[in-house]
Amino acid sequence: MRIFDPHIHMTSRTTDDYQRMAEAGVQAVVEPAFWLGQPRTNPGSFTDYFDSIIGWEPFRASQFGIKHHATIALNPKEANDPRCRPVLDLLPRYLAKDGVVAVGEIGYDSMTPAEDEVFAAQLALALDHELPALVHTPHRDKARGTQRSIDVVKESGIAPERVLLDHLNEVTVAAALEAGLWAGFSIYPDTKMSPDRMVAILREYGLDRVLVNSAADWGKSDPLLTVRTAEAMLAGGFDKDDVDRVLWRNPVEFYGQSGRLDLSDPAEAEATFAGNSILRGGS
Ligand SMILES: [Zn+2]
Repeated sequence: MRIFDPHIHMTSRTTDDYQRMAEAGVQAVVEPAFWLGQPRTNPGSFTDYFDSIIGWEPFRASQFGIKHHATIALNPKEANDPRCRPVLDLLPRYLAKDGVVAVGEIGYDSMTPAEDEVFAAQLALALDHELPALVHTPHRDKARGTQRSIDVVKESGIAPERVLLDHLNEVTVAAALEAGLWAGFSIYPDTKMSPDRMVAILREYGLDRVLVNSAADWGKSDPLLTVRTAEAMLAGGFDKDDVDRVLWRNPVEFYGQSGRLDLSDPAEAEATFAGNSILRGGS
């Protein structure tokens, strides 16, 4: 079984997690830029974070044979902090980088006017840079937030098949698929969405344009829930090809639209990064 986790925050995970993921069949991940729990107070803090998820984290992943790509954006939560707004001016530099396969996570947290502006501005950046967009839907007031996100995506002019609407559930999946967008699901240990609920959604809506991720962030989460969902699919009557489609070929198809997805041997990435002695030093 080969697994591609299309949305996982490895910056919050340990090397033990990488080890367990590799052993369970996770061979590729995409790490979206998001908030860090503690609010950031200046754009330089983002610069170091972006550099980390396009430099250090791919190197860490490569040590376990895992391919790592990133998405870059000003996240919806911090879009509300005026101290963070200048990050928008830094984005074009990062969106030009090889390992960046989408603009994201963008979208809504509390649906404020500031979030409206930053969301629209970053969809425009996705169009300019010919990149797909990863759109986070709010955990509160999800149905309204999802519909509003779909409306903003339509207004932006970006092709719907280049947009992934993430953190969906039984209530919001139909609207995303009917609008022609990709539907993403984050599987959590106790809350929101479980492997069995995911299998029921796949049965009802089919396997087209559906992505499953573990999110694995600062909250209670589990980086192996992609694997657990694959197992639940097999137990629920789907075959190995169905599992490969949802957990490998679909993410490859979505992020492949960037033209930058590189799934060649991770040892090469390690060799490239090995030149940077500062980041390698210390431990
Ligand atoms: Zn996320």
